[in-house]
Amino acid sequence: MDKASTVIIGGGILGCSIAYHLAKRGVEDVLLLERLDLATAASSQAAGLMFQISSKPAVDILSRRTFSVLSELENITGEALDFKAVGTLRIGESLDSKANLEQLYERAIREGIAAKQVDAAWRSQHLPWLRVQDDALTTVHFSEEGYIDPYRLTHAYARSARSFGAQIKLGANVSGIKATNGVVVGVETDQGDIACEKVVVAAGSWSNFLTLSLGCALPMIPTRSHFWIAAPEDHFSDEQPMTVHADAGAYTRPEVGGVLLGVQEQHSRTFDYKDLPNDITSFAVTEEGSEWDALIEAEQRVSGFFPKLEGARFESYMAGLSAYTPDGHFLLGETQAVNGAFVAAGCCGSGVMASGGIGDALAELIIDSKSSYDLSAFDLNRFGQVDPSSEEFQLLCAQARAKKAK
Ligand SMILES: Cc1cc2nc3c(=O)[nH]c(=O)nc-3n(C[C@H](O)[C@H](O)[C@H](O)COP(=O)(O)OP(=O)(O)OC[C@H]3O[C@@H](n4cnc5c(N)ncnc54)[C@H](O)[C@@H]3O)c2cc1C
Repeated sequence: MDKASTVIIGGGILGCSIAYHLAKRGVEDVLLLERLDLATAASSQAAGLMFQISSKPAVDILSRRTFSVLSELENITGEALDFKAVGTLRIGESLDSKANLEQLYERAIREGIAAKQVDAAWRSQHLPWLRVQDDALTTVHFSEEGYIDPYRLTHAYARSARSFGAQIKLGANVSGIKATNGVVVGVETDQGDIACEKVVVAAGSWSNFLTLSLGCALPMIPTRSHFWIAAPEDHFSDEQPMTVHADAGAYTRPEVGGVLLGVQEQHSRTFDYKDLPNDITSFAVTEEGSEWDALIEAEQRVSGFFPKLEGARFESYMAGLSAYTPDGHFLLGETQAVNGAFVAAGCCGSGVMASGGIGDALAELIIDSKSSYDLSAFDLNRFGQVDPSSEEFQLLCAQARAKKAK
């Protein structure tokens, strides 16, 4: 029987980051198992937005590690990751959104994050297509934020992990985790068993397939995230900042001369994890012909700030699955039921930006049984017993996605 010290299940951005952070700390015999290829699911579909500050302070601490890991990976691999530091313009128009944005701005200043309140002249210079309804609105520019290609970042973690000795095996499907007397002893795969002392479930939307047999139902539901890409126009440019418009429930970022637009739906589409095929690339997250429905539903609120929406030439559509929890926070930690079984899942549309911190925190937890990051917001058991297939629970997670504040 093959052996490893730690087996990581899943070759998405989280599995690869955990492998890198463990191997970098000197853990020997780290083995990552991926049944398809690296970054074939959510990690190749993300818009790649990376924020230093958001409505979730516990997530921000993890995200800030990702900003610092980029140069580390570039040095190790010798390849640029091409992080586009265009900054973010956050827009608050309603009283609530303005108050939230002012609080975010004050927190940014306290925490040393680059942030500046900007006026109408700044907005029309940097975002000529943007219209704001209210002259008294609040707009804050966070100049060091930006976006990255999540596929390249996943591969950079993987290459760096390998350079510190981690093994990555592709085409290996894990069918179960083996435990004896409440302690992990190995994993079962389609290519035979592998003995190990620690296992990390980083299997994205499929994670419940692996943890349920350990008596651990993860409180998360595969939920649709999607965006549209409009073709280049004179008023767009790749230097323009990303925008987050809280009242419209929408965001934009440049995309090769055009613009990428993401919107939140009133009723997010969810799936029972049991219905997911192994290979998501052939799965209809959105039924053919209905890829414009959510954009049409959002037209009124989006065209309020993006008046050129109607004439925009939308040429691409991307839909994928992100696992959402009812409170929009991740699921990170060791299972109560089985010692040595760890989870990094439930990434609620933020797994790219938090990947560095999640990898770092999980490596600390696995090696030292504690982490320097405060992971209490991400406790696996914070919702008590749940049935991740029940309709009621799916509705709770869909609402978390619909209300997601960035
Ligand atoms: C449209 C869209 C836009 C997004 N935009 C952003 C964004 O702007 N910023 C951001 O931070 N995040 C964003 N996200 C979220 C982000 O993509 C995810 O949080 C992140 O990719 C999750 O990574 P992961 O490694 O947990 O999962 P995944 O990338 O889904 O990887 C899980 C892997 O596990 C493998 N696996 C599963 N079961 C097994 C098994 N039994 N054996 C072996 N392998 C297995 C799968 O094949 C898969 O490769 C977006 C997501 C979507 C869908």
